[in-house]
Amino acid sequence: MTNNLGELQDRYLAFIADRGWEEFHTPKNLTMAISVEASELAELYQWQDNVPVEQILEDDDLRERSREELADVMIYCLSMANELDIDVEEAIADKLDQNEARFDSETADKIARDLSQWQR
Ligand SMILES: [Mg+2]
Repeated sequence: MTNNLGELQDRYLAFIADRGWEEFHTPKNLTMAISVEASELAELYQWQDNVPVEQILEDDDLRERSREELADVMIYCLSMANELDIDVEEAIADKLDQNEARFDSETADKIARDLSQWQR
């Protein structure tokens, strides 16, 4: 079993190569695949109210389907990273650094106030 993203990237790269699918894993196709899989995840919650996480955790079927669609999204993200020679762990860490600098406590409080008016 693998646990880090770099190992999973390598594993998926081998999966694609073993099946001769490299030509289909273009940045355009992968971008669309990521979007489609994200939509499949969103579809699980479409037309529902804002389902509390506690309710989802008690619904084994919904939680499992969410788990699978989330994995689909992430697998295509790893393949995109492979195509663009991106170290995903480094990219995520860099983005977290940017977000931490961008959303200081004052900005975060303002966003929370703005969003709270839309919560039910
Ligand atoms: Mg899917």
